[in-house]
Amino acid sequence: MPKILYNPDVLKHKPKFYHVENPERVETILNSLKLRGFDDIILIEGKSSIDEVLEIHSKEYVDSIVKLCNDSFNYYDGDTYISNGTLDAALTAFKLAKEAVKLALKEKDLYFALTRPPGHHAGISGRALGAMSNGFCIFNNIAGAAELAKKYMKKVIIIDFDVHHGNGTQEIFWNDENVIHIDFHQKGIYPGTGDVFDIGGEKAEGTKINLPFQSHSTDSDYIFTWNDVVEPILDYFKPSIVLVSAGFDAFINDGLASMDLTETFYRFAGAKLSKYGVVAVLEGGYGMGLKYAPPAFLEGYVKAEDILDTLLDEKYSISPSNDTKLIVENVKRIIEEYLNIF
Ligand SMILES: [Zn+2]
Repeated sequence: MPKILYNPDVLKHKPKFYHVENPERVETILNSLKLRGFDDIILIEGKSSIDEVLEIHSKEYVDSIVKLCNDSFNYYDGDTYISNGTLDAALTAFKLAKEAVKLALKEKDLYFALTRPPGHHAGISGRALGAMSNGFCIFNNIAGAAELAKKYMKKVIIIDFDVHHGNGTQEIFWNDENVIHIDFHQKGIYPGTGDVFDIGGEKAEGTKINLPFQSHSTDSDYIFTWNDVVEPILDYFKPSIVLVSAGFDAFINDGLASMDLTETFYRFAGAKLSKYGVVAVLEGGYGMGLKYAPPAFLEGYVKAEDILDTLLDEKYSISPSNDTKLIVENVKRIIEEYLNIF
């Protein structure tokens, strides 16, 4: 049974006026998971230390966050607010992601860390790869999890299916050949990075895999791409655990993006990952996706066989767009030179 890692201190990061990234997001997920029978919640006590965060971020950046948290309310940039509970929430989220790794290495299951503020846009010193802002992120939780997982695994695989490109994660591990980062995102929206030709630094070429989709891509586009790109990589490396930057903003009508995914993709992704231990770390998601996608993802994990059979039985017509086929073809051609697995 999947485990949900939680600590109510993540709610202490609070906007002053309405903001799409708010504490209710986590409450919506918790309620919808409970309603669908996923109520195995592990309360994780305490938070990470500043020193742990400094394994990922620069001292100047962390100092600037600490300083801004001393006031009652601030903006780090136009998108990213900081309340006086932000430091506590961000250090708690960082710990939830790392604890999920420890638990997943002990016993195979899906561990879903309910982290906020989100993290995948936060680079070494905040804004990453020329982005205009931190995109609501403070500390990069998935990077903390990956850094810890590296101590136990030769290759760490991060799959980021948040609709925005995980520019912070990509920047942090750009030169790290031991972290494979596969990123599904909508092309042309914030943060504007994630081109198919961005494949990693000199010694890490081929370990950063970017999948920029057109707006209104569907379950078919994502399932086709997973089967053609993600699955061969997982089959080849056979990692004991897989890290997932789990944003749910590619769900239809999210508000911040314009993808058309439904529960079908999240169920499929959960089912495909059921062979592995999974560390899912919450990123974005601002609309109905928060209610429907997380339970679908967990359900996929526990009912993998049924779900994959149903997809076959119904002859689910995987009909990707020509654009998706072209992206997949290009990515495979580019990556093949470095990872000889397709
Ligand atoms: Zn996002």
